[in-house]
Amino acid sequence: MPKTQSVLLDQKRMGCGGCGADTFKVYTADKTQRIVLQCQGCKSTSFIEPQLAELQIEWGDGDGCITVT
Ligand SMILES: [Zn+2]
Repeated sequence: MPKTQSVLLDQKRMGCGGCGADTFKVYTADKTQRIVLQCQGCKSTSFIEPQLAELQIEWGDGDGCITVT
């Protein structure tokens, strides 16, 4: 089986929420900051960009976990 098929095996196909087309052109000014997808049906654009990370506090050893007091 070609590698691309196994990578996509459990993935869901995505399409344009406007016209339903599933063909896009991909652009970026800086690939680490933002990727822009342009639907080739209706020319709408979508952005894929990182969001700020959120801290997650989890319980460690003992009975206390740090919190806002
Ligand atoms: Zn579209």
